[in-house]
Amino acid sequence: MRIPAAESSGPTAGEAQAHRLDAADPGHRHLFHVPPADGGRYPEAAYLAGNSLGLQPRATRTELLADLDAWGRLGVEGHLEAERPWLPYHELLTAPAARLVGALPTETVVMNSLTVNLHLLMVSFYRPAGVRTRIVIEDSAFPSDSYAVRSQARFHGLDPDETVVRLTPRPGEETLRTSDVCQFLDAEGDTVALVLLGGVNYLTGELMDIPAITAAGRAAGAVVGWDLAHAAGNVPLALHDWDVDFAAWCSYKYLNSGPGALSGVFVHERHLGDPTLPRFEGWWSTEAGSRFEMAPVSRPPATVEAWQISNPPIFAMGPVRTSLELFDSVGIPALRERSLRLTGYLERLLDEITAHRPLTVITPRDPQRRGCQLSVRVGAGSVVALAKRLRHEHGVIADAREPDILRFAPVPLYSTYHECWRAAEALAATVAEVDR
Ligand SMILES: *Cc1c(COP(=O)(O)O)cnc(C)c1O
Repeated sequence: MRIPAAESSGPTAGEAQAHRLDAADPGHRHLFHVPPADGGRYPEAAYLAGNSLGLQPRATRTELLADLDAWGRLGVEGHLEAERPWLPYHELLTAPAARLVGALPTETVVMNSLTVNLHLLMVSFYRPAGVRTRIVIEDSAFPSDSYAVRSQARFHGLDPDETVVRLTPRPGEETLRTSDVCQFLDAEGDTVALVLLGGVNYLTGELMDIPAITAAGRAAGAVVGWDLAHAAGNVPLALHDWDVDFAAWCSYKYLNSGPGALSGVFVHERHLGDPTLPRFEGWWSTEAGSRFEMAPVSRPPATVEAWQISNPPIFAMGPVRTSLELFDSVGIPALRERSLRLTGYLERLLDEITAHRPLTVITPRDPQRRGCQLSVRVGAGSVVALAKRLRHEHGVIADAREPDILRFAPVPLYSTYHECWRAAEALAATVAEVDR
């Protein structure tokens, strides 16, 4: 076991190198609140859980207070007279959300929560008919997605056990191969109504080949949707050019918009204004100009806003707006470049540690097949107990998933090389060496 150097003896060579890398390749940590370490040698936590809940941008409080003040000063008149009027408030989020996922503004809207939106999209895009009834997901799908698709099958009077296909990796492998997914769709696609996969898998960190799988699914006659909860703000996306049918993502992970924050939705241009698609409607489904006609029948616009139902929750939208402005100012290409460097650094540190311990990195080694997250399988002992020791003995916040996965996400906006180094040191100090 490596004993961390005592404070008085100064930084080790490894720590000094981490500091040098941070000086050469700084992120935007100063724009965020970072939780205290709560023990250990450093004042701030090493926060590697931004894939679960992103940190709070410092600007969020100020901006949110301004929206609250407008309510206090203006009452109902804020709908039209606030500095950022509430009636069209959601429109402020549209263009930056579209840039984030590579979409047209007419294809993108922010509304509701993620799983709610998956259901609303499946109302339109999961339409089982004849032998084409099946829904394809990955076996390691996030539970909410599993439950959502199973309940959709039941809603259509189908047996979820027969309707939902769960794709598994090959024996002995941890992640799906794109070629296997495409082969399945070539062979059995005529029974598939919907493919709904995670763009970046929440558990393994695998980045799927979204354009290739979308093309294979659509060639087989299926609709292809993507859950981008772990992809939005993490990897470059080009949903329009990739011909994705629909997608949804949440804003509380890489998008740093706060617990339970709103979800983004994408519907490809080719589906917009299609009167044959069923949709659930409310007064925000009608085109903006007709909203206050109080007419008995809606006039939906030929944009994704036709999928909106309710008027926008302003105090939930404010943090998304603030966060998207930050993404716009830094830009996804620069974030991705830094992400490749940061995660590559953590991977090298983990390689040294896992070689002598019951630990295995299960995330693909090819940087093009992953986002920023690295997932480590823990071979012995409780993963939850291990995460607690990292937290309370070393101030390292990572994320444990039962039964045996520890997830580390160096987030390119705000994580540092020094945090990666701390995480690796803490893991080395906590998990005993064995002969492997
Ligand atoms: C985080 C996450 C969710 C959470 O769904 P909510 O509706 O926001 O609670 C769903 N699916 C995936 C893939 C996720 O990563």
